[in-house]
Amino acid sequence: MRAIIIHEAKDLRLEDYPVETPGPGEVAIKLASGGICGSDLHYYNHGGFGAVRLKQPMVLGHEVSGHVTALGEGVSSLAVGDLVAVSPSRPCGHCSYCGQGLRNHCENMRFYGSAMPFPHIQGAFREQLVALESQCVKADGLSAGQAAMAEPLSVCLHATRRAGDLLGKRVLITGSGPIGTLCVLAARAAGAVEIVVTDLSDAALSYATKVGADRVINTGIDPEALNAYAVGKGSFDVLYECSGAAPALAGAIPAMRPRSVIMQLGLGGDMTLPIQAMTAKEIDLRGSFRFHEEFAMAVRLMQAGRIDVEPLISHTMPIDEAVSAFELAGDRSQAMKVQLSFQ
Ligand SMILES: [Zn+2]
Ligand SMILES: [Zn+2]
Repeated sequence: MRAIIIHEAKDLRLEDYPVETPGPGEVAIKLASGGICGSDLHYYNHGGFGAVRLKQPMVLGHEVSGHVTALGEGVSSLAVGDLVAVSPSRPCGHCSYCGQGLRNHCENMRFYGSAMPFPHIQGAFREQLVALESQCVKADGLSAGQAAMAEPLSVCLHATRRAGDLLGKRVLITGSGPIGTLCVLAARAAGAVEIVVTDLSDAALSYATKVGADRVINTGIDPEALNAYAVGKGSFDVLYECSGAAPALAGAIPAMRPRSVIMQLGLGGDMTLPIQAMTAKEIDLRGSFRFHEEFAMAVRLMQAGRIDVEPLISHTMPIDEAVSAFELAGDRSQAMKVQLSFQ
């Protein structure tokens, strides 16, 4: 079987990889769909991000779905043939954070396709994958591509839960990539009454419109457009900062109401903040990192028809064209979510 392995920046190969057999509590999965994430792109384009660098070849990928082909001993909730969304979140279950229910902060997290620890945690872009039963959520009723969107959607659901009550709230989202646009869907499902999205790319913003944003603003073309929201000490109750760009965050502060909440999702390196204005407005700045229990929630919300991710899947390409798919995924003028088909 083959896997998609990054060796160093711009050196991505489809290579033979050993087949594993499922042990107790595990299942074998024939992969169906794998979404290319911003972090996969960082490894592909730059060999890492921030202080995280590739030190050995690593299988990429953590947004995957597939069909169960074999059951390990004791597996009872799944059957051969089931379509499952596979959570890349593999906390240890034993450390103090796991004990406190903060599983995304597990001290021994083995999140697929991560070069943070060494040896690196190998990813899920493999034709066959062995996963724990507990990582798999049955996704009947969804397409394989939709099921593979459960992972990035979980990131946005986690941020939405951290943001607190959104019912009737006005929301600003900076950055209209896959996470920003999925945040439109998550915020709407949570009851946001008005959602405004900013970006520097009209192509990216068109996807925010497709998933129901009330207004999109190209802040490159119209840098003054947010000024109207700054009157009366600001308009927005919640900001989802999904760009990781300091100017996006700083530019949003005047439009935020006193005691509003900033959810920081974008990871673009360290930034300088307008801390004086944020302090005077008593703004809460909250980080949001990965997810855990939101993964099953993401599948349920899609199955129930409460969240439709389909408009965001812009391209599906066979794994033999993995390099072209990674190039396309990095082109914001064309692509939103690019998925690889393993079938
Ligand atoms: Zn991802
Ligand atoms: Zn743990």
